Amino acid sequence: MTTSEVRQKYLNFFKQKNHIIIPSAPILPENDSTTLFVGSGMQPLLPYLLGQKHPCGTRLTNSQKCVRTQDIEEVGDIRHLTFFEMLGNWSLGDYNKQDEVKWLFEFLIQEIKLDPKKIYVTVFEGYDQIPKDMETVILWQTLFKEIGIEANVYNNSMRLEDAKIFYYVKKNWWSRSGTPENMPIGEIGGPDTEVFYDFGLPHNLKYGPNCHPNCDCGRFAEIGNSVFMEYMKQNNGFVELKQKNIDFGGGLERITMAANNEPDAFKLDIFSSSIKTIENISGKKYGASPITDKSIRIVSDHLKASIMIMGSGITPGNLDKGYILRRLLRRAMRHANSLLKNMSLTEITKNIIDQYIEMYPELTPSKNIIINEIDKEEEKFKNVIHSGLAKFKKLEDEKIVSIDGKTAFDLYQSFGFPIELTNELAQEINITVDMEGFQQEFEKHKIISKSGSEKKFKGGLEDTSYATTKLHTATHLLHTALRIVLGNHVCQKGSNITAERLRFDFSHSKKMTEQEIQQVTNLVNEQIKMGLTMSPETMTAQEAYNVGAIGLFPDKYETKVSVYTAHNPETGYVFSKEICGGPHVKNTSELGSFKIIKEEAISAGLRRIKAVCI
Ligand code: ATP
Ligand code: MG
Repeated sequence: MTTSEVRQKYLNFFKQKNHIIIPSAPILPENDSTTLFVGSGMQPLLPYLLGQKHPCGTRLTNSQKCVRTQDIEEVGDIRHLTFFEMLGNWSLGDYNKQDEVKWLFEFLIQEIKLDPKKIYVTVFEGYDQIPKDMETVILWQTLFKEIGIEANVYNNSMRLEDAKIFYYVKKNWWSRSGTPENMPIGEIGGPDTEVFYDFGLPHNLKYGPNCHPNCDCGRFAEIGNSVFMEYMKQNNGFVELKQKNIDFGGGLERITMAANNEPDAFKLDIFSSSIKTIENISGKKYGASPITDKSIRIVSDHLKASIMIMGSGITPGNLDKGYILRRLLRRAMRHANSLLKNMSLTEITKNIIDQYIEMYPELTPSKNIIINEIDKEEEKFKNVIHSGLAKFKKLEDEKIVSIDGKTAFDLYQSFGFPIELTNELAQEINITVDMEGFQQEFEKHKIISKSGSEKKFKGGLEDTSYATTKLHTATHLLHTALRIVLGNHVCQKGSNITAERLRFDFSHSKKMTEQEIQQVTNLVNEQIKMGLTMSPETMTAQEAYNVGAIGLFPDKYETKVSVYTAHNPETGYVFSKEICGGPHVKNTSELGSFKIIKEEAISAGLRRIKAVCI
C-alpha cells in the first residue's frame, strides 16, 4: 500500500462518517509564536478545540504537514522523520469516545487490514483525583472480543504477548503543559489512548530489561493517539467540560509502515527515489552496514524536510527557522560527506525534487529557489567542513575528554559547525561538549556583532524637543522594567519616539497579561517619583558590557560608547544603565505620569508597546 493510498483511504473513511475534509495548514504557524513549525494536526485547530466555532462544522478530518524540530536528533533511527504527515479527525463537542475508538479500530482492521494480533493499546492509569479511564478499557475489550481476541490488561506476572491493554500515567495524559499537576488553573486536558503496532523485531536490552509498547527498542511503533479533552483544571481540582472534544492524530508514514508490515519508514514508497539516488551517487547500498544506513536515512530525511521548509519561503540563516534549516542541511552534508567525500546535496536534490513536487504541488514555484539555496549553502560549508572535521580528528587524537566552550564556539564561528553537529560528532567518539561554556562565548560574541546602535536609536527619535526627550528617558525606564517583570530575554528590537508617544519593540513571545502591564507601569512610575538622575558617561563597549549596560552594542570592544545611568548618586541606587547617545532629561521627576496605551504583537516573538507621559 502506498502512502497516498493510505491518506486517501483515511480521508474517505472519515468523510463517510460525515466529516468535512479540510486542507493541511502551512507548516509555518499562523498567529502562534510558541513554536517554529507546526508539529501536529491539532496545533492549527487549537482555537476551535478551545471553543471557537469552526466554519466547516463539528466533524473535521485532514492530513497535516508537520515538522518536528525536537525529533531531529532521533532521525537516523527507522521510525522518526523530521517532516511527516499527521492524519487527524476531530469531534468539536460532537461524537463521543465510543464512536472514536470504534471507528479507529474499524479503519485499521477493515480498511488498512492490519492484523489485530499485532495491535496493542495504552490507556490512562489515573492520577490523583482523575480516575483511571475504565470506559476506554472496556471499549477496547469489547472491540477485540468481537473479532475473537481476549484483550487482557497487562500486569507484571504476564507475558507481554498475553496482554493487549497497557496502563501509563504521563504518556496517556494530554495538555499543553504536560501532566495534570503542571497545568495552570483554567487549562484544559484529558486522557488519551494510543495504538501501537508490533513489528516483531527482537527486543534490545539497551532499552531496559523488558519490552513494552512505549519501549524505544523499535519493536513497537506508535501509530496513532486519540485524545479525549474532557477536563478543566480549577482551584480545587478538575471539573468535566461541558463541550468534550476529541482529537486523533496518527502518523501517515507510521500507518503505512504497519499496512506493509515494514518497520523501516525509509523503505516506504516516499523515500524510494531519494534512497536510490543516494545509492547511485555514493556507490553505497542501503542495508549494507548500520553506519552507512544511518547516514543514508539522515540525508534523505533532512533533504526532504529542508525542501519542505524552503518551499515555505525560509532560507538558511543563523536564527530561528533559518537556523533549523541550516542545521538540517549541514548535518545532511556531513553525513553525505561520510558516504562519499564531497558528495553534493544539490545533485541529489535535483534528482528527487520532482517526486516531492508531484505530492506537494505547492513546491512548484520554489523549485529553482530551493536548488539554488541548497547550492549556496553547500558552497559556504564545503570549503570549511574538511578543516573542521580535521580539527575534530586532532581533538580525538589528543584523547581529550571534553570539548571546551571556546573550541566549540570556534568550530561554530570559523568552520560553520552548528553546536548540535559538534555534539553529535563528540558523542560518536564518547566525549562531551561544555554547552554552558559555548553559550557564554556565544553571548559574548553576540554583543560584539550587534551594529549601528547609535544610528539606529537616533533614527528612532523624530526630533529632540523636550516632549520627545522626556519620552526617550521613559523608554529607558520601560526597557529595564520589562526585563525585571518579564525576564532578561527582553531585548530592544526597535524604537520610535514622537512628541506624542513612545513606541518600543522588544523580544517576547507571549501577550503580556493585565497584571504584567500594571507591574511594569508601576515600576516605571516609582522610578519617576524617586527623582533619579540621568547621568551620561563615556566608556569602551567592553567596559559597558562589564558594568552590565543594556542596549545595542557596536561592532568592536574598543569602540567608545556613551552610557546613560538612571540612579540616585547619594544612595548609590541604580535602576538602569543603557548604551545610548541621548538626549535625556536631567531628572526622572520631570516625566510626570507614565501610561501604557497599547501592547500588541508585531510578528512571531516580537511585541510592541505604545506609551505616553502625561
Ligand atoms: P513517538 O513516541 O513515536 O515519538 P509521539 O508520542 O511523539 O510518538 P504524538 O505526539 O502522539 O507522537 O503524535 C501523534 C502521531 O504522530 C504518533 O502516533 C505517530 O504516529 C506520529 N509521529 C510522531 N512523531 C513522528 C515522527 N517524528 N515521525 C513520524 N511520525 C511521527
Ligand atoms: Mg515523539
